[in-house]
Amino acid sequence: MDLKQKKVYIHTIGCQMNVYDAEQMERGLSPIGYVRTPEIGDADLILLNTCAIRAKAEQKVFSFLGRLVKLKNERPELIIAVGGCVAQQEGKRILSRAPYVDAVFGTHAIGRLPEIIEKIRAGQGPVVDVALSAGEAAFNPFPMSDTGHHPPEKSISSFVTIMQGCDNFCTYCVVPYVRGREASRHPDRIAEEIRTLVAGGVREVTLLGQNVNSYGKKEGLPTFTQLLERISEIEELSRIRFTTSHPKDLSDELIGAFGRIEKLCRHIHLPVQSGSDIILSRMNRKYTRKEYLAKIDRLRGLCPDIAISSDFIVGFPGETGADFQKTLELIQQVRYDSLFAFKYSDRPQAPAARFSEKIDEAVKAERLGEVLDLQQRVTLERHRSLVGQDVQVLVDGYARKNEGRESGRGIQWTGRTDTNKIVNFYGGQDPENTVKGDTGACGEEIFSGRMISVRIKDAFPHSLSGVPLHPAAIGPGTKGEKHHAA
Ligand code: SF4
Repeated sequence: MDLKQKKVYIHTIGCQMNVYDAEQMERGLSPIGYVRTPEIGDADLILLNTCAIRAKAEQKVFSFLGRLVKLKNERPELIIAVGGCVAQQEGKRILSRAPYVDAVFGTHAIGRLPEIIEKIRAGQGPVVDVALSAGEAAFNPFPMSDTGHHPPEKSISSFVTIMQGCDNFCTYCVVPYVRGREASRHPDRIAEEIRTLVAGGVREVTLLGQNVNSYGKKEGLPTFTQLLERISEIEELSRIRFTTSHPKDLSDELIGAFGRIEKLCRHIHLPVQSGSDIILSRMNRKYTRKEYLAKIDRLRGLCPDIAISSDFIVGFPGETGADFQKTLELIQQVRYDSLFAFKYSDRPQAPAARFSEKIDEAVKAERLGEVLDLQQRVTLERHRSLVGQDVQVLVDGYARKNEGRESGRGIQWTGRTDTNKIVNFYGGQDPENTVKGDTGACGEEIFSGRMISVRIKDAFPHSLSGVPLHPAAIGPGTKGEKHHAA
């Protein structure tokens, strides 16, 4: 085995599941001599981590691959590998569209990635590996304890996969076909991974699964709520988030957990997809609008401040103007904190691709615009209602725009409330600011990873800004972080 250090560039398209998979790929390649580079031009290996959930994401895959032809012609020794959902779905068809690709590896082949790359380096390519595995072998092939490799960059938050695949077969979705059937990971492995992350500085974990509410049911493992209770006992872990929860499986046990488990963030992502029962039935979502709303009421009854977000698909085959109005009414009624909305697109393996009454692209675009405009107004109103309140912010690091350094206002930091709102504030080097962080190597005060009380002063469509409060309000991680009226 050639242990000379080589560079891998990983380009990820898609959801948090894919971001997590990219970390797994990086960790798996480390023992065979690869380090990650942010520069594609420096790479000896380019990994394209793909998403098949929407046509647009799939188009991005082939346009990215198209841009690699020149690099491969200049440096034939460059290895190009395609992984993730499009790789799983298309298999060797990728090689006929892009013959310069050296490897295609599916969603369950990440554990075999080092061998795949070694084969190519030994001149045995191209390799296509899209076999689906069962049980534990399906995920997390490279636990951090194996390599001693701390999360790629010192992160405050980390994703942790608790399940793979899905058994729900919504008619528009390819996940059951490209990620396989539902499988849950053993709680001991999950707890082990979180303890390792926490030892490396992580303070917040997001548990990932397509439908966390059915966690453990097939395998006879503890319920998802019991898993949350177990994880909440890990000291030094401040916050637990999870995504995604299918509305049909949202149990009273889990709803009750929001009022009871202190570390569980008061935010739930509950994708509804449509406000029309006719469309929900065609989507095979297995709940009605009324049942969905009843669950929202129960959540808010137990935890009035809970933030609720959702996903919507507009222009599903057969969606009439009246169906779409029901979607708008639902958004107005629930008053989500935020939402993601997408235009429906046919996915080759999904049944809805064969449904008639396809909606015109221009109508879809118009409906998407209406949903986004409505939600933007609601989000801004909700953000404005927080002005004057004190919130607890877990600080991620520097804010992206940091004009404060030049203006002498200090460094702008960013973090999130437990309700998942982005809050920016100035701290350190600000003469009027009483809050002091730890001192970093270059003399700056470091707030990353700390829980800071911030009084909200201003509201924007995507974020809030405020001023940090008295130093006594700062803690290394807190329990019971509630909003207080100022
Ligand atoms: S619940 Fe439906 S939309 Fe979600 S992953 Fe499963 S099949 Fe896809």
